[in-house]
Amino acid sequence: MQRVLVVEDSKVVQQVLRHLVAHYLNVAVDFAWSLAEAKEYISNQNYTLALVDLTLPDAMNGEVVKYTLEKNVPTVVLTSKIDEYKRQEMLEIGVVDYVIKDNRDSYHYAVKLVAQLLRNQGCKALVADDSLLSRSLMKQMLEKQLFDVQVAHDGEEALKILKKDAEIKLLMTDYAMPTMDGFELVKAVRNFRGRDDLAIIGLSGAGKHGLSARFIKYGANDFLTKPFMNEEFHCRVLQTMEQLSLIADIKESAYRDDLTGLYNRRYFYQFAESLLKETARKNSLALLDIDFFKAINDKFGHEAGDQALKQVASLLRSSFKGFTVARVGGEEFAIVLADISLEQAYPLLDAFRSRLAAYDFVINGQSFTITVSIGLANFQNVTLTSAMRLADKALYQAKAQDRDCVVQQS
Ligand code: GH3
Ligand code: MG
Ligand code: MG
Repeated sequence: MQRVLVVEDSKVVQQVLRHLVAHYLNVAVDFAWSLAEAKEYISNQNYTLALVDLTLPDAMNGEVVKYTLEKNVPTVVLTSKIDEYKRQEMLEIGVVDYVIKDNRDSYHYAVKLVAQLLRNQGCKALVADDSLLSRSLMKQMLEKQLFDVQVAHDGEEALKILKKDAEIKLLMTDYAMPTMDGFELVKAVRNFRGRDDLAIIGLSGAGKHGLSARFIKYGANDFLTKPFMNEEFHCRVLQTMEQLSLIADIKESAYRDDLTGLYNRRYFYQFAESLLKETARKNSLALLDIDFFKAINDKFGHEAGDQALKQVASLLRSSFKGFTVARVGGEEFAIVLADISLEQAYPLLDAFRSRLAAYDFVINGQSFTITVSIGLANFQNVTLTSAMRLADKALYQAKAQDRDCVVQQS
């Protein structure tokens, strides 16, 4: 469980931060006013990150930073005045980054930075560079950003690692490397990992400006010219990763049904098509349709109908964990049961059917029950259209057989 500690003595700033934190962070956050209070929090809790003010009433000279780092809490510094000397000192003692409080946007930036760092935690990154010094420097800097970092000595090794590990989300690659250079590596990687799925930042030596642009042409998301400043590195990495998560969020919402939060019809068709390509797997497909749902709307109102749909969706989610559940029509749902044969699927669906029938819906003080009819079909070595037709035919039969039952394709 991730947890953040904010140490800030200004009431106004703390107010602003509380507001932003509620908006951007989805984790537990504690607020301390002083070093003494921060110490108390840290002695009772484990923190993933700390966002601290450099000057506090009981610690005027950044002592809080030394304390959080000593306790191994990665720290972002929030400060109103910073001179070059202080900046160097902060970086040397190992803060992740610092933000100067000179306008309202800086608080925004600081909280967004914390949000991105939290997302980085546990996220895998790969550094490909033939220079030991540069490799270990980048590894260190990425680890400061909470990445889980692997290294490769050249392009070929990097490619091998990436082929094996689809969880790597960031590749930092040098240009000049033996066996396979940075361009070749980027080109090869893009054959199996898209720009929205793996971020690539290319690095090239000073004075070779043409190289940077070519990195982008070959498919890198961004580039850095060596030598780079600490902040430049951090900003580029954070910005690139932020873009990746924004795209992931947009994709995710395009695949979700607004009312129930289940996958929508579009996702269902894409997923189902891709699963059917894996011929070795024995899968089943279920179509569920709520019985006499129109009557529920007529009797209790459309709003109550919406609430009921949400509750049915939540029961489906909890009953079919690990399977793909989608809302494919108004009161129609589909479940793809991967690696489950028709014989294995039947009892699972029948158990859900009876669980739902026994469930007491209480909406706006009115109590009622809901039943579903379910059609079940084999989902292997068929086209999606014919599997859907078979499941739909079975569903039609279930409706004809007095509803509240499961019929499997004959
Ligand atoms: P059957 O047992 O034959 O399936 O009867 P039914 O009444 O469920 O079927 P019908 O297809 O006649 O009606 C479906 C109803 O579902 C009509 C429609 O108003 C309602 N419905 C569809 N989408 C929504 C929704 O998003 N919210 C609400 N409240 N109702 C919806
Ligand atoms: Mg219907
Ligand atoms: Mg219906």
